[in-house]
Amino acid sequence: MQRAHTSGHRWRDATLARFRQLYWVTQGSKLAQSIKSKCQMCKLREAKFLEQQMGQLPEARLKPAPAFNHVMIDLFGPYSVRGEVQKRTSGKAYRVIFTDLVKRAVHIEAVFGYDAESFLMALSGFVSVRDREDEFWKKWTELYAPALVIRRKWNTANRNLRPGDLVIIADRNTLRGDYRLGIVQEVFPSQDGKVRRVNVMYKNFQIGEKVQKYKGHNEAVIVSRSAQRLSLSVLVDMDQDQETKSEAKESV
Ligand SMILES: [Zn+2]
Repeated sequence: MQRAHTSGHRWRDATLARFRQLYWVTQGSKLAQSIKSKCQMCKLREAKFLEQQMGQLPEARLKPAPAFNHVMIDLFGPYSVRGEVQKRTSGKAYRVIFTDLVKRAVHIEAVFGYDAESFLMALSGFVSVRDREDEFWKKWTELYAPALVIRRKWNTANRNLRPGDLVIIADRNTLRGDYRLGIVQEVFPSQDGKVRRVNVMYKNFQIGEKVQKYKGHNEAVIVSRSAQRLSLSVLVDMDQDQETKSEAKESV
């Protein structure tokens, strides 16, 4: 049995199978197991195998975050550089590389030494550039993301748009915060009965504007829009719901 195991250092059943090609003993399975579990070679090999397994990824690697929210820093170099003006002068330079842990994007800053001061200069260069991106991300989550959430809810509910639905129109300029509210006028169901294209009527009412102050600045405009570009805000059949009805009355 020992030899049957040593020939390949396989698991219990494989060891036993090999053994049984030539011999048969009672409680062979138990014996094979005991030889296998006492085998030093197997212990070593399995220890090595466990080491090779991938470790748990830190949370910072997995959570969606603004660009360069979590970074890894490294320094590479030196390599020789030549002066821009005085071509004959040359020196050593290094680069600090900032890697985004989530998106794997890189940002590289040049430095002329590997001391703390050089690093701090690279860091402030990095921060001044990447800060603006954070500003963008903040605005995006504040202004645009809520609209996306509503849309996803609506998709799972799988309800078709109907005339009278109040929608937020997410046009291309939405990033500038220029939202419009509209009312679905007409729906055009596809052959499968799903509404993907509608006519929406809107006036230039913008989100953030107080309802009381809204005066209907311009003539109503009717546009054709893909349902994907609309976020459902108030469903027309919501007022069949008793609670909503009483709330609406109170606010009127
Ligand atoms: Zn073994």
